[in-house]
Amino acid sequence: MNNKTNYEYLLSDLSSLKGVGEKTKNLLKKKNINSLFDLLWKLPKSYTDRSLTVKIKDLKIGEIQTVTIVPQKYNFPRVRKLPNRVLCNDETGEIDCIFFNSYEGYVKKILPLGKEITVSGKIGHFRNKYQITNPKYISEDSSIVKKAYNTYSLTEGITEKIYNKIINQIIENLPDFNEWHSKHVLSKFKNISWINSIKELHKAENIGNFKTNFYQRLAFDEIFSTFLVNSEIRKKIRKIKKKNKVINLNKQKSIIKKLDFSLTNDQIKSLDEINTDLSSTNKMFRLLQGDVGSGKTIVSLLAAINTINSGFQVAFMAPTEILARQHFKLAKKIFPPFVNIELISGKSMYKEKKEILKKLENYKIDIIFGTHAIFQKKVIFNKLGLIIIDEQHKFGVNQRKKLSDKGGVDCDVLLMTATPIPRTLTMTIYGDMDISIIREKPKTRIPIKTYSKLEAKIEDVLKFIKKEIKLNNQIFWVCPLIEESKKLDHASAVKKFEYLEKKFPNQVCLLHGKTDIEEKNKILNNFLQNKFKILVSTTIIEVGIDFPNANVIVVENANKFGLSQLHQLRGRVGRGNKNSTCILMFKSNLSDNAKKRIKILKDTNDGFLISEEDMKLRGFGDILGFKQSGIKNFKLADPVQNADLFLLAEKEMRRIENSGEDIGKFKPLIKLYDRADIINDIV
Ligand code: ADP
Ligand code: MG
Repeated sequence: MNNKTNYEYLLSDLSSLKGVGEKTKNLLKKKNINSLFDLLWKLPKSYTDRSLTVKIKDLKIGEIQTVTIVPQKYNFPRVRKLPNRVLCNDETGEIDCIFFNSYEGYVKKILPLGKEITVSGKIGHFRNKYQITNPKYISEDSSIVKKAYNTYSLTEGITEKIYNKIINQIIENLPDFNEWHSKHVLSKFKNISWINSIKELHKAENIGNFKTNFYQRLAFDEIFSTFLVNSEIRKKIRKIKKKNKVINLNKQKSIIKKLDFSLTNDQIKSLDEINTDLSSTNKMFRLLQGDVGSGKTIVSLLAAINTINSGFQVAFMAPTEILARQHFKLAKKIFPPFVNIELISGKSMYKEKKEILKKLENYKIDIIFGTHAIFQKKVIFNKLGLIIIDEQHKFGVNQRKKLSDKGGVDCDVLLMTATPIPRTLTMTIYGDMDISIIREKPKTRIPIKTYSKLEAKIEDVLKFIKKEIKLNNQIFWVCPLIEESKKLDHASAVKKFEYLEKKFPNQVCLLHGKTDIEEKNKILNNFLQNKFKILVSTTIIEVGIDFPNANVIVVENANKFGLSQLHQLRGRVGRGNKNSTCILMFKSNLSDNAKKRIKILKDTNDGFLISEEDMKLRGFGDILGFKQSGIKNFKLADPVQNADLFLLAEKEMRRIENSGEDIGKFKPLIKLYDRADIINDIV
């Protein structure tokens, strides 16, 4: 077999398997098992050793045992409900095989009188006699029964026996591959091949041996495949030739000078990296990653003005209209007056919109702000040079790839996210982009004070709030998220709203999952304009919006949130130069684990560090909803347990990138492990 047929065989559907009918196939499909390869990850949970036979006199009731017996007599009662019974024996005693819901013909076939039959099953005892009920492991050929059978977590309708049969079939027929890894990498795994690793993985005695070389090799394979695919996407985008921008640093400087703060080192470094990309003849596809409040907006606006000064248009997309408007206002404030700045909003009148579209097409607009509406088909740019996308950490690789194609050849792309993620995940989640990171917060920022409070002490919280309101400050009040029921979420927020409204008449507003977009914008705007003092909400308050007056956030039932989420929530306050406070409320006394978590939050405001700790404590669950964005669900690899493998994979990927090595030899690996839609044009 050559390599091509090798992986194709493993990717073929289940019909090539013996002993798999339509029914089983459909059941497996429901479990998302569609190919032979998918079945390789159906791992045994434990095993049952049926290899040793005992004599009937030595049987142990209640255990799974194997005996060789001779059927002597059938007892098929005429009464429907009674089971069919076959009286059997060996030279030491008697045993009954009992069959419920079975056909006489079937029973006669598997237990022919006078023949030696080997049968394995749980031994029962009834009316002073041993019995085995509905035995499944039963044959004239004792070698078929006398084996160690792996046990699997069973899909409804598929027996352990079928799993054993089909998985063994695949493992016995595994095709051979040329080794794809370098000698150096392979030596880390004691040179074990992929095939032998799979074989070891399925051996009953190896169940749960995560630290073994075969397990690690297989985990590495899937990590590396992901990194490699991401790297190829990145390379491909970077290869696209574009007209370079000419950066006028003097003009950049004159804007920076007018700001009422100086840029942090990380802001300067990120801006340099972006400028280098803009002025190169290769397309930029870069992510600006920085914690909430790290000051990404100004960096992106400086990149925008550099692009504009170089004779290009810029499109700036924000996730919500309010945020788009805030960015728009900031641009109006800091850009020189000759720059044409527009905002396209859902509320703009038809005529107004038409006018904007015409102006965009005629290059009468330099930069446009808006939500995803700015990427509609009818929006035509004259000379788009840069797309900036704010707060889109939930875009998956596919969506981003599409984005990179938007705007034509000369258009650079800058994405921004305020979601710090653990180091090991960066390449997994954002590996298709170049990354600039702002880790350092502005020095002027006053750390947010974080407290935990029992719900019973709510009066203390109210007292504190009263004081803050007197100082003309505003408060976010986040209600418990009850995942199981949207209705309950709603009810609890409404109840809290009514409760607070009684204490602070006409000063409270409410936002919940059912509020429609227009209403929501109105409420947020009112709050922004300080018309209300307390905003009660269930949904997580929009990422990115600056509420300069809000300096207190109360999070109820805080243990419902992960650390990273709490950190994100806390980041809604403390953006200005006021003292700000985050109060985490709990229903009951904290467990040790919860205390540990809260301590991390109190000790640090570094989102990257918090995300690491969050992942360590919670495991690689759905940290901040990345699963929805189509990030890979690893089969074996675990970013916490296998951190070293993630780092090794990154190192190896960089080595290959730098050496320009041909990646053809990884074709089987990529084809097996990755989503064909993305990589079709790569290998
Ligand atoms: P994010 O990275 O979350 O998007 P923003 O860009 O919205 O953060 O910045 C948050 C606040 O910090 C804004 O009010 C902005 O004016 C301010 N800011 C940005 N950079 C600095 C800096 N270097 N020094 C002080 N304040 C800054
Ligand atoms: Mg922002």
